[in-house]
Amino acid sequence: MTEVFRQGSKAQLSGVYKVIHHRKHVAPHYVTMLFGDIFPPCLKCSSGVRFELAISAVHANAHHIFSVPRESVRSDRFMPSHRGTPPIEAPLKW
Ligand SMILES: [Zn+2]
Repeated sequence: MTEVFRQGSKAQLSGVYKVIHHRKHVAPHYVTMLFGDIFPPCLKCSSGVRFELAISAVHANAHHIFSVPRESVRSDRFMPSHRGTPPIEAPLKW
């Protein structure tokens, strides 16, 4: 079952999220969220908006394969790094 996130909660995984609005006042669409981002309210349906993880994608700066200068990494934004574990892929529903 797909986990649904509401406005105000914190993204536990970086990736692309499908956005579904209350009463479908706008067609579903996709947004990118980074680990630690707060899911925003919609200007029209406020807390009626829902976010479903479509595909997780680790930020390049958090991936162990890339060498990034320490001062350019904001660890609070890009952790966890998913080291040693593949990214979770949710089924795409484009
Ligand atoms: Zn809305």
